Amino acid sequence: MAVAEFADANLMRLGGFSGLDIPDDDLLRACVHCGMCLSSCPTYRLTGQEMSSPRGRLWLMRAVADDRMDLLDPLFDEQMYQCLNCRACEAVCPSGVHYGPLVEASRAQLETHRRRPLWQRAVQRVGMRWLFAQPNRIRALTTTLRMYQRTKLDRLVRRTGILRLLGMDDMERLLPPIAGRALIPGRERWEPATAAATNQRTQLFNGCVMGTVFANTNRAAARVMAHNGSRVDVPAGQHCCGALQVHAGIMAEARVLARQNIDAFERAGDDPIIVTAAGCGAALKEYGFLLKDDPVYADRAAKFSSRVQDVTEYLAANEIAPPTVPVNRVVTYQEPCHLAHAQRITAQPRQLLNAIPGLELVEMRESSLCCGSAGVYNIIRKQMADDLGDRKARHILATDAVEVVTANPGCAMQLRASLGRNGSTARVRHIVDVLDESYGGAKTQRAIVSSTAR
Ligand code: SF4
Ligand code: SF4
Repeated sequence: MAVAEFADANLMRLGGFSGLDIPDDDLLRACVHCGMCLSSCPTYRLTGQEMSSPRGRLWLMRAVADDRMDLLDPLFDEQMYQCLNCRACEAVCPSGVHYGPLVEASRAQLETHRRRPLWQRAVQRVGMRWLFAQPNRIRALTTTLRMYQRTKLDRLVRRTGILRLLGMDDMERLLPPIAGRALIPGRERWEPATAAATNQRTQLFNGCVMGTVFANTNRAAARVMAHNGSRVDVPAGQHCCGALQVHAGIMAEARVLARQNIDAFERAGDDPIIVTAAGCGAALKEYGFLLKDDPVYADRAAKFSSRVQDVTEYLAANEIAPPTVPVNRVVTYQEPCHLAHAQRITAQPRQLLNAIPGLELVEMRESSLCCGSAGVYNIIRKQMADDLGDRKARHILATDAVEVVTANPGCAMQLRASLGRNGSTARVRHIVDVLDESYGGAKTQRAIVSSTAR
């Protein structure tokens, strides 16, 4: 981290907030308390309590900023972490309250000034800081988990009941079948299908979960883009996006990851950066904000963010070649919060699904209401996450869809677990997997997979 950033930060203060990452005073003042956000807020919908609404939480932030409430008041702590950071409130606010950065800064304040119990610090250090610092650590973990699944050890362990005893059975249920081979940046690239070849080049952001657990979905995305005329590279040297760290208020680690990604994608050129995970895409599009005070990276971060596009955004803007293989199924679409609310991308996924022959898209109720995934929320706030997941599963069941399409790995895992818990056999897939199927899939796709990359 730049030294100047620390030096200036020591002088910064807003009431009970101090140091780096202080909630923006102007944004806090922008709230006119109209209450239009309340009905969009999942935690308000579940609890009916004003404190659990966006307006209530903004009031708490204002109270700390005005020195009317202690930063370390348990109520403030509880509400900052009960929030899913789904940003549904932000999307409907007529005053333009940019809520996401406010709650993230509030959490950063808590992480900086509150002493957590030793075990929580240990879990955070290993889970959030150490594990995500190097992509090969995530790959090693997912390889171990894949072996656990492939050797059928998972079934044996489940039968013993030990997971239930340890309270880990629901967590294990979140785990989808893990791809056989991780996608390692710099090792694979896709050339455009000859007939559709253009001068377009795209750089795929791999992501830690998408590049391992869902590596084949990233490959499907690359094939779909290649089918539509683009050369697709997966630049070497890229890291985790840092979204989990930003959401948890661990900003220093998030900034380290952001700088590494900016360096890696600058080295690879200035092509569009395509993302298959809505949560990663929202974080990458906000690097400009995350590093706005960094004297070395501020401008580069803003430029990087301007290159980022969700894969559905990119494909819909480029008039795709019509998919031809019929997909004769009824599907429904679950909107990831960080696609619909943080990136305001709602029409493009539906446009792409409606282009697939044979596919019938049936809308579910409350498609854009959070499914309860929200990073690690479904692990640390299980009851509320389960309530939201069950509500989502009921809406899916009402559509009679055999497949739920989404665009974010966290949603995919939460939906899968929630559907299973509610007795549904509906499959959960990423939108590019369905598109890839309709373009002929891996076997007939004309794009070339190479073992080297630029
Ligand atoms: S909609 Fe916006 S202005 Fe109205 S209460 Fe919610 S955050 Fe405040
Ligand atoms: S981010 Fe989501 S959960 Fe948090 S206050 Fe806004 S709508 Fe409610």
